[in-house]
Amino acid sequence: MPGLLEGKTALILGIANKWSLAYAIADAFRREGARLVLTHQGTRQRETVEELGRELGAAMVRNCDVSLDEDLERLREELHREGIRLDSVVHSIAFANREDLGRPFAETSRSGFLVAQDISVYSLVAVARAAAPLMSEGGSITTLTYLGANRVIPNYNVMGVAKAALEAAVRYLASDLGPRGIRVNAISAGPVKTASARAVKDFTSILDFVAQRAPLRRNTEPAEVGDTAVFLASDLGRGVTANVLYVDAGFQAMGL
Ligand code: NAD
Repeated sequence: MPGLLEGKTALILGIANKWSLAYAIADAFRREGARLVLTHQGTRQRETVEELGRELGAAMVRNCDVSLDEDLERLREELHREGIRLDSVVHSIAFANREDLGRPFAETSRSGFLVAQDISVYSLVAVARAAAPLMSEGGSITTLTYLGANRVIPNYNVMGVAKAALEAAVRYLASDLGPRGIRVNAISAGPVKTASARAVKDFTSILDFVAQRAPLRRNTEPAEVGDTAVFLASDLGRGVTANVLYVDAGFQAMGL
């Protein structure tokens, strides 16, 4: 049986290591036959992501720091020069200063607030703008969000506000790009132990709480996020845009 993404090319931003949600997504895309273009953030990650790229059979691995317009422009130019048409883009990127993920939200500094918004929200807008001209036959853009966008999660703080803005950005981008056949959605993943998640103070207690209270009585597997990303990028998701899909063992439904 042909894979769900056979003949499609996907740009995936946000693999830092094997535990990254973007890695699970890339692995699921590979399984379904997608051609992969991966990016890494700067030279520190280069070797690891190139190695993972070889493992995944990626067609291309490039550097792209999304806080730098010139990096995004270079990536766009290179993909254009290579004649690569994109069918899907996965934006799996967020950043906040560690001190803002532990102290009271009211103490967030202006600069800490802005850095979280720049890397975790504006970058989706910048990536969509760079990628859209390469998506000449339409396609799908997917980002990653978290329940902290609409509920108060201890210590998630400035990132919760960034995720609220990210989800709003998904709706505005979906409205702008829909006429070009480009769908824009977010997956709201349950907590998963990754490098970024470890920056949230007492993250392990969030994992424990979710495992006790979620309808499925367990935490989210990265592969479940990968499979939902496949659905959104595939033709099965062709009617879905401007949406936030929860892949969280049902935790978002619980009041207490
Ligand atoms: P991760 O640390 O593996 O991935 C975060 C990625 O963001 C890294 O690859 C990092 O290099 C990249 N990044 C940060 N600043 C960047 C920049 N300036 N330029 C380019 N890349 C940059 O952690 P993850 O948990 O896989 O995070 C991926 C996404 O999933 C994030 O948006 C995160 O908020 C979201 N998410 C995570 C969880 C969780 O519990 N792990 C839950 C819901 C949503």
